[in-house]
Amino acid sequence: MEEQGNKIRILDRDTINKIAAGEVIERPASVVKELVDNSIDAGATEIRIEVEKGGKHSILIRDNGCGMSKADALLSYEKHATSKLTRIEDLDTVSTMGFRGEALASITAIAKVEILTRPPEELTGTKLVIHGGKVQETSDAGTAPGTSVYVKELFYNTPARRKYLKSDRTELAHITDTVTRLALANPGISFTLLSEGKPVIRSTGSSDLFKSLVNLLGPDTARSMLPLEYRTEDFEIRGYVSKPETNRGGSDQLYVFVNTRPVTSRAINMAVREGYYTKIPKGRYPVAVLALTLNPEEVDVNVHPRKAEVRFSREKEVGDAVIRAVEKVLSEHGLAPEVREKE
Ligand code: ADP
Ligand code: MG
Repeated sequence: MEEQGNKIRILDRDTINKIAAGEVIERPASVVKELVDNSIDAGATEIRIEVEKGGKHSILIRDNGCGMSKADALLSYEKHATSKLTRIEDLDTVSTMGFRGEALASITAIAKVEILTRPPEELTGTKLVIHGGKVQETSDAGTAPGTSVYVKELFYNTPARRKYLKSDRTELAHITDTVTRLALANPGISFTLLSEGKPVIRSTGSSDLFKSLVNLLGPDTARSMLPLEYRTEDFEIRGYVSKPETNRGGSDQLYVFVNTRPVTSRAINMAVREGYYTKIPKGRYPVAVLALTLNPEEVDVNVHPRKAEVRFSREKEVGDAVIRAVEKVLSEHGLAPEVREKE
């Protein structure tokens, strides 16, 4: 007998995958971030990114990392397939950029993707072509050691999502910001970003953070910055902060990394500003590149689908350390904020 009252249905797999993918992949810059994360996790020392039309037409990421065997490549795009996490306890100490096995599953669900990969020790590589979650081709293929992922026509099968993409220029600006953050967080890796074949970013990967600042933020900004190093028993903070006169209208020039992961943290942004106290007008921000190192157990990186936000178990202590670090470097350079009463 036909049941009339039933309104609840389980969504089909294709729909479930597209919805889940939308949480991880918001725009072309999210694809760039996820794929570069994978290249970093693969131990790459060179990462090259080529985009067309702000990534809306295509995104190509090539790395010289560890590559994948055929068997691994065939698993890599399945949901929850990861080589980086095996038990829930591992989440407390996760040191890789990825860990949920969602990125390739998401990207291949909502774009036309070609993966070419080969571990350095193997003679032939593997080619995989996946369109909208459906495998079109798997074959042996000659390719350089490492992995390249070519993503075409992002959101071609989710038109509602595609409609919300902005102009090529705006999408490219998001990609440039993403690559800048990843490159500043990893000064030992060489990054190249090309748009329509023209270089946008070139960071040599010399391991010298100051050279990365010159490459990525420009020589003028780099020269106006002061090196900072600060340690407490539990945290280490290293990086560069600008002299008070080099300030900007927004917090978009604060580059914060926690255990080499680019993050946004309101608490840290506020602490940086607080460190300058009255030396920077209200509503203005310095330029700062801050790499925080702390026990991974004190950071929750699994708060956000895109892992952009982190939560600290001792947020107040982290914020205080950042304030002190900034105050210390400014006072060492005779740019100290007024001496403040100890609370
Ligand atoms: P996660 O990074 O969370 O593990 P992904 O979906 O991003 O999930 O990737 C799935 C798996 O595919 C990774 O765990 C890794 O083993 C493999 N992989 C993905 N990209 C690369 C790459 N560029 N080089 C080597 N292996 C890769
Ligand atoms: Mg990943």
